[in-house]
Amino acid sequence: MPGMPYEGDPSKYVARKNWSARPSPAAFAAAGLSTDVDPVCKRAVAVTSIASEYNDRTYCFCSEDCKAKFNAQPDKYARG
Ligand SMILES: [Zn+2]
Repeated sequence: MPGMPYEGDPSKYVARKNWSARPSPAAFAAAGLSTDVDPVCKRAVAVTSIASEYNDRTYCFCSEDCKAKFNAQPDKYARG
């Protein structure tokens, strides 16, 4: 419709921007969040994000993709 402030889909730009501006561990700490390391890609992630339990430990992931990889081969990733 005419008068739209954006051309195309602005949500694509927002998603891309957030991806590249992934918070650092210090940013998580400043927000009062505990952090963990994604065992699949080794990124710092907030413990409130996507998680899976294995051997009585909770592992956190940056994305559903990493969670799926972990769940497919938990032994491979849980042992570091
Ligand atoms: Zn990941």
